[in-house]
Amino acid sequence: MDHAATTPTRPEVARAMLPYFSERFGNPSSLYSLAREAKEAIEEARQRVAEAIGANPEEIYFTSGGTEADNWAIKGVAAANKKKGDHIVTSAIEHHAVLHPCQALEKQGYRVTYLPVDEFGRVDPGSVEEAIDDKTILVSVMAANNEIGAIQPVAAISKVARDHKIPFHTDAVQAIGAFPVDVGDMGADLLALSAHKFGGPKGIGALYIRRGTRIGTFMDGGAQERGRRAGTENVPGIVGLGKAIELAVAEMPEKAPRLAAMRDRLIREILEAIPDTRLNGHPTERLPNNVNVAFRYVEGESILLMLDAFGIAASTGSACTSASLEPSHVLTACGLPPEHAHGSLRLTLGSRNTEEDVDYVLSVLPGVIERLRAMSPLRGEA
Ligand SMILES: *Cc1c(COP(=O)(O)O)cnc(C)c1O
Repeated sequence: MDHAATTPTRPEVARAMLPYFSERFGNPSSLYSLAREAKEAIEEARQRVAEAIGANPEEIYFTSGGTEADNWAIKGVAAANKKKGDHIVTSAIEHHAVLHPCQALEKQGYRVTYLPVDEFGRVDPGSVEEAIDDKTILVSVMAANNEIGAIQPVAAISKVARDHKIPFHTDAVQAIGAFPVDVGDMGADLLALSAHKFGGPKGIGALYIRRGTRIGTFMDGGAQERGRRAGTENVPGIVGLGKAIELAVAEMPEKAPRLAAMRDRLIREILEAIPDTRLNGHPTERLPNNVNVAFRYVEGESILLMLDAFGIAASTGSACTSASLEPSHVLTACGLPPEHAHGSLRLTLGSRNTEEDVDYVLSVLPGVIERLRAMSPLRGEA
């Protein structure tokens, strides 16, 4: 129940990767048949990634994952447009892979506007228009949020950016395989994706860079990735990414509605069975696999520990390991009422989850919350 954190690499994907560790181990930059096989495998994977998102293969650059792709998009555009401007527009609910590069740029003198979201976690495209000034060089808003599953109106947001001739980046890490992702329809000039979020291996991802987008190199060294991201390619990873994205996109029409039905049953029955509970994120504009609820009077990490004892892996945006006791920046930005802020629970479904898994969670969770509430000091205060 934690597939937003990662997914298992699918057996078909692992099988496709295996030969590139052993008999086809050549360095793609070398000049003999063994190397050529590796080079061809990379280009075939590039073709698959491009097809999956409506791009041209020469606009796909392989990276070490979603974090690197986001870092490259933000720092690379900032570096290449230094003379043009110093202002970036993003949202308050981005993944840290976007927020922290923005904060790093602020230390270098750039200005960043962190757009607010409504109570459902959605960015208003009108607020993008208001935030843009004549020094804005990048707009970056994620396609779908990893914590609360809110799907953003990226086509409307990118149109605002385009009207001002400002490049638009979107972190689509959670979107691939969940809903159709097309760089044309989304109006994306840059788009980040990561294989391990959709049945591929960890440590491999890609950045889509629309032809003509001004962006600096990410890694300097050899001529790999057309000189823009040097370093001997992660050939098995790239092959795995190509296979995984092809499968994820092909299976989406069957998988997304199946997961959405389980999601909706979980949400409905949790809200029915457990009093003083609220749904976080948007009721309909949300990822098909995402459930995020907040229970009054309980503490997120205690829920996780008890669920783990029942063999259920889940996640919370209310971590008390940090000294601050603050809920996540995403829940805070949505204005989660303080009495609910400490008890959030995220369940994210995956391909292999079944209705029996949903039954099991629903049989365990009410008792867990009841037990935690019975010993909660928060409850006495109410
Ligand atoms: C997981 C995730 C990332 C980071 O991707 P990695 O490949 O793990 O570095 C970035 N953005 C979002 C929305 C994510 O869910």
